[in-house]
Amino acid sequence: MASVFCVANQKGGVGKTTTSVNLAAGLAQLGQRVLLIDLDPQGNATMGSGIDKRSLTPSVYQVLLGIAPFDQARRHSDKAGYDVLGANRELAGAEVELVDQDRREHRLKDVVRGVDAAYDFVLIDTPPALGLLTLNALCAARGVIVPMQCEYFALEGLSDLVNTVRQVHAHLNPELVLIGLLRVMFDPRITLQQQVSEQLKTHFGAKVFDAVIPRNVRLAEAPSYGLPGVIFDKSSRGAQAYVEFAQEMVRRAARPEPATASAA
Ligand code: ATP
Ligand code: MG
Repeated sequence: MASVFCVANQKGGVGKTTTSVNLAAGLAQLGQRVLLIDLDPQGNATMGSGIDKRSLTPSVYQVLLGIAPFDQARRHSDKAGYDVLGANRELAGAEVELVDQDRREHRLKDVVRGVDAAYDFVLIDTPPALGLLTLNALCAARGVIVPMQCEYFALEGLSDLVNTVRQVHAHLNPELVLIGLLRVMFDPRITLQQQVSEQLKTHFGAKVFDAVIPRNVRLAEAPSYGLPGVIFDKSSRGAQAYVEFAQEMVRRAARPEPATASAA
């Protein structure tokens, strides 16, 4: 049974997709069997994995609505080394179309439970909102990874997300736990970032990942080549940090997280 994690933060542009794609590639490099599910109609994780979202039919959209089977929609990215259940703009419709359907929050979970035996890790990239798509990701996942920049307002947004995780844990998915906070786009020369990083460690303790992802232009350049940064420039500081993060995730997956409400 795979470890199923969603990468979430309702704030836009905080590094969710960069984290999803590079963690997937880092895990694949460590010999793990990985499925990356793109649950964002922007399709950035799909493109960043080298899969063309424009020619993607069926996509995760048809799978969620039960119109197409998973096997028809899954693609393997040879360059990135993992499987992708990709998305494109069509997926925006699901947010509305699922509303009056049975098990609307559990659609993705039903899909994942049918296929996760074939993988060690299933990662889900989510859109910058706490809508029905993100809710599906939180119901399918056993853990949430939260990438965040160490800025003042980041902490404010975090309480909304932590509350949502608590609510989902209480009402929809008792397995769900907050796995950890990942500091991304980190610049240690900026005093405020150091301060916020310290505050995070004070409040969240071991829930703050040891790995820290630096601001690194190679990570930002990689998607335009349809490659994860980890593959695009292995020697870059950003790539090395994501490989360290992948190693940390493999270590954590080996020991179970406490599935209690307080852990969320
Ligand atoms: P959205 O909410 O729109 O889905 P997101 O949270 O997925 O955004 P990304 O797309 O991963 O965020 O990142 C936002 C921008 O920041 C992108 O241009 C990306 O290339 C860049 N970026 C992400 N991480 C880093 C980093 N560590 N160093 C430099 N640039 C980065
Ligand atoms: Mg994104």
